[in-house]
Amino acid sequence: METDFIVIGGGIAGVSVGARLSHLGRVTLFEAEKALGCHASGRSAALFDECLGAPEIVTLNRAGRAYHETANGGVLTPRDLMVIARAEDRAAFERDCRHMALAQISPAEARARVPILAPGPLAFAGLTDRAWDIDTDRLLQNFAREIRAQGSSIET
Ligand SMILES: Cc1cc2nc3c(=O)[nH]c(=O)nc-3n(C[C@H](O)[C@H](O)[C@H](O)COP(=O)(O)OP(=O)(O)OC[C@H]3O[C@@H](n4cnc5c(N)ncnc54)[C@H](O)[C@@H]3O)c2cc1C
Repeated sequence: METDFIVIGGGIAGVSVGARLSHLGRVTLFEAEKALGCHASGRSAALFDECLGAPEIVTLNRAGRAYHETANGGVLTPRDLMVIARAEDRAAFERDCRHMALAQISPAEARARVPILAPGPLAFAGLTDRAWDIDTDRLLQNFAREIRAQGSSIET
């Protein structure tokens, strides 16, 4: 079978690039496992936070958010995000608060939200409501459907 593009790997990187390439030519995507998303993409904590990552990644996160909110009905659901730290990790905690635009809350407020947190080690907590759950399975399947709809193929 003739193909214009070969994509190796059926995680989110492979299926998303495969979906985009399928509009430019015939794609054949090879996945070593029996199903897509068996490795990192199937184990993700499924958090989308625009501010997480190196500056280049933050730029990509921001550029991609509208797509993830709207395409195929959207895959993002709003959620809170809380970061906790021990006393000795104060510098890293303050850096995260600045970087991720977290509002500092008291350890008692943190425990009220997540009662299983042990009071002893918990010295700092920060919170934002600007985070989202990603429906990672739906995102993966949307891209896979796009590949097949263009007449391209996925070989597991
Ligand atoms: C525990 C955990 C939690 C995470 N939480 C988050 C989170 O909350 N938010 C977030 O944004 N990111 C999170 N991530 C990161 C995110 O999941 C990964 O960055 C992303 O899934 C990587 O996708 P990938 O396609 O590059 O890799 P993978 O999903 O690992 O896909 C690679 C695929 O290539 C296949 N493959 C490899 N070699 C071959 C070959 N020679 N031939 C055919 N197939 C091959 C593998 O079988 C695999 O399916 C998390 C990751 C982990 C592990």
